[in-house]
This record gives sequence, structure tokens and C-alpha cells, in this order.
Amino acid sequence: MPGPRDRVHAVTDGRATGEVWLVGAGPGDPGLLTVRGRDLLAKADVVVVDRLAVPLLDAVPLLTGAETVHVGKSATAPSWPQERINALLVERAQAGARVVRLKGGDPYVLGRGGEEAEACAAAGVRATVVPGVTSALAVPALAGIPVTHRDVAQEIAIVSGHLAPGHPGSTVDWPGLAASRATLVILMGVARLMAIADALLAGGRPHATPVAVIERGGTPAQRVLRTTLDALAVDAIAAGVRSPAVIVVGKVAARTDAPAGAVDDVVARPLTGVRVLVARTRPRPGLLARRLRALGADAVETVVARPAPADGTPLLAALDGAHALLLSDPDEVAALVSLLRSAGADVRALAGLTLAAAGPQAAEALDALGLASVPRSELAAGPATVIVAGAAEWPAPVRRVALLCDVTAEPDPRIAEELRHGDFDVAAFASSTAARGTAELYGPLPPDLLVAAMGRRSAEACEAAGMRVDIVPDEPGVHPLAAAIADFVTASRVLPG
Ligand code: SAH
Repeated sequence: MPGPRDRVHAVTDGRATGEVWLVGAGPGDPGLLTVRGRDLLAKADVVVVDRLAVPLLDAVPLLTGAETVHVGKSATAPSWPQERINALLVERAQAGARVVRLKGGDPYVLGRGGEEAEACAAAGVRATVVPGVTSALAVPALAGIPVTHRDVAQEIAIVSGHLAPGHPGSTVDWPGLAASRATLVILMGVARLMAIADALLAGGRPHATPVAVIERGGTPAQRVLRTTLDALAVDAIAAGVRSPAVIVVGKVAARTDAPAGAVDDVVARPLTGVRVLVARTRPRPGLLARRLRALGADAVETVVARPAPADGTPLLAALDGAHALLLSDPDEVAALVSLLRSAGADVRALAGLTLAAAGPQAAEALDALGLASVPRSELAAGPATVIVAGAAEWPAPVRRVALLCDVTAEPDPRIAEELRHGDFDVAAFASSTAARGTAELYGPLPPDLLVAAMGRRSAEACEAAGMRVDIVPDEPGVHPLAAAIADFVTASRVLPG
């Protein structure tokens, strides 16, 4: 067993000196970590890890007592500023530690690894880079896309989509790339898809240019969207594409090495054969079941609660002197109208307010009433005059009013029967209301049913209702929840798959 002294691997002038290794973790599959990377991880005193590389830590045995520091982005904890990461690396190494800085993909491909190496050098700390399998090349390959192909594409450009084309800080030559025939591999581009597609079309890339968007490549939740440049933005929104994803533009993006007929838009279907009960609090089919089905699951939706308009008095009070009203879905739009009506008012009470829609469905519902709205992103985060209704999240101080309240639905005898027979493998709850409603309608769930909760609040509601929670994603959201279920099922392999 290594003792504490063994942790200090070099001593000069009686002073301990540590060292930093900038290790590329590869795209996410532990099998794509390099042998050297794994060896260094196993000997590290401190592992400083990005969010993209976190899953690898479960797969690699670390030194007993090794410290792990998470510095990557997540919905609940913001990523560390680069300077703070640099300072941590230097500080720990100077205190004598062997520090592994584990970075997604290759440390020097669009990952700010160069800055970390420079900071170490400036402080006199030895830093060694250990190249990794970059997602720019590996993720297309994992989707069956060769980034070069004889006669089709003989050059590749790996591009950051972090800054929109035309942004003063961008050094990317979008017009040049648009005019070329190179395969474009765009990282960090999900948030700028529309601007990127526009720039490439404006620069002369044909409308029908094939595009593939590969989300979470190399993980059990990998998804591949295949489309064309002119349909990219619309299709990506419809498919709910989320970061991390690699965007491949060019003729090669239409290729796949999968056998014909084996692929629709989803390559990996880790939930095949898994039956999931999805408790709903809205009478419409939901995104979670759709996402689970895309991953191969047999998702059965059941309504356990439905929304009813809340009391209108707080609404009218909150509207007084407000600037803007943000609505999250069509149910809230409908409730707004019915609350105004029950208070003896109508849509004229909204005159002068900016109406904002949290998504396209809320915008459509407002439009159907002849009410124009702006997308939520155009709503300036400002003083406490924005009313955020229902579940919509908002970063700034707001006046919050509930337009809807939930009433428990009636139990479905077929669901009760299937639960009794143990026909479900997983029950998934996207909200605390869904968890409470299910417990109320169906009583205690079978002990071998896996319970998945979307976030902290739904997990707490499950526990309060006497359910053991097995799966909670790192960040709340439909896609993370579905992915966490897929990860869990893949890891445990206790279910048919
Ligand atoms: N140094 C990394 C890239 C860092 S930038 C590398 O060499 O891979 C982060 C971006 O990489 C993400 O926004 C996404 O575009 C891409 N990315 C990394 N891992 C990915 C994965 N498993 N699936 C899809 N995209 C990934």
C-alpha cells in the first residue's frame, strides 16, 4: 500500500515538487481512454476533471484517497473560471501532488489545454500533455461517418461553433469554409446551429448538403440526426438536440457503415426490451416517452394528475404594473385566458405587456388567440417585473404566480394490473406532481421496479411517498433523465437488453 510519503514523487532541495499531466479522456467511452492516460489516473493524487470526462472515473480504479475535483459545467454548478482551474493545478503541483487534469477528447483540441500548460510553465510547474482521442474525429466515426473519403472529401476542418459567425471575437473563416468542399466538423455548435447553417448557405454551400448531428457520441445514449443544411435548424429543434454534440457538414455526413435498415435517426438503442412507466401530469403525450422510445424503450404513458386553472386573484395582483409575462406551455396560455375570464376581465388586461413564450408550443397557443409573443431568449433579464408562470425557470428576481394547480386523475386499471404483475422495469417521474400522483393512485410500487426521478425535487417527492429512488441524472431535463436511465440499464445489465 502506498503511504503518504510515496505520494511525493520527487524531492528537490528538500522541497516536494509535484507535476501536472494534461490527459485526454477521449469522447466518453472508457474503452477510448489511452493506456497511458489510465496508468496516470491510477497513480494520481489529485484528478481535476471536466464534466465530459466524469463517466470515465467510474471505470478507472483511482488511488485510495485520491482527491477528485469537478470543474466542468453542469446545470446545478457553474463551471470554474479558467484562471481558477489554472491556479488549482499550479497550487496542488507546488504542494507536491501528482495532478492529472482529465479533459474530454484531446486536451489541445478546442479545450483550453494550451492555456493550462502555459499557466503551469509560467509557474515553473512541469506539465506533460497526454494526447487523447478527439471527439472531432471519433464521434463521427462512432456514427459510421468517415470524415474523409476518397473522391468525396480529402480535407477536414475542425471548427469551434462557440461564437456565432460574424461575432467580432470569432477567428473562423466561415465564408472560406462555405466556399470549400472540406468536411466541416463543428464542436460546441449546438447553441448556434441556425447562425452556422445560415452562414454556410450564404457562402455558397448547397442547400442539400448532408449534415449529421451526433449527440453524446460513444455513450449508451448516442443519437444521430441526419438532415440537410437547409433543414438543420428546424430538424435539430424538433429532435431536441442538446450539447455535447458534434456537427458534421459535407457529403460524407450522408454515409453510414451500419447495415441498411438498421438505423433510423437513432443508432444506439440501449433501452430495447425495457418497459418504462411514464407518469404524466398533462393529458398530451410527452417528450420523455418519445425520448425513451427513441432509445428503444417500450414507454407506457399514464396520466396521474391534470392541470386545472388556479385561483385568479394573485394573477391580477401580479399583472398590476408588470412589464412582461412569460408562459411555459399551452396549458398555461389556456389557464391565463380562463382566469382572466373568471375575474371578469379578458385579454385586454394584457395590453402593454410583453408576452414571452418558453417554447414553440406556448407561442403557437398565444398566436391562436391573436396574441403576438417573443421567444423567451429575447426577454431581457431585468427588474422584478417579469412574471414567470408555472414551472418556467428564470434567473432574475421575478413575481411568480401559479396559473395552474394539479388535480389527481383516476387510476387506470390496466396500469394497476401491470404493476401488480411486475410488467414494468422502470418508473420515470419528470416532476414531483407525477411522483405524488402515482403513489396516490397506485400505492406502494413493486420493490424490484427501478425508480427514476428527473431532479432533486422529484426525487424528494418519491422518497416522501415511500419510493426508493435508483436513478437521478446529474442535471435535470428530459434528455438527461432518459440518458441516465439508459446508462443505468446498460451498467447493471439486469434487465433484458
Ligand atoms: N477537447 C475536446 C473538445 C472540447 S470542446 C475533444 O478533443 O473532443 C467540447 C465539445 O466537444 C462539445 O461541445 C462537443 O461539440 C464535443 N464533444 C465532446 N465529446 C463529445 C461526445 N461524446 N459526443 C458529442 N460531442 C462531443
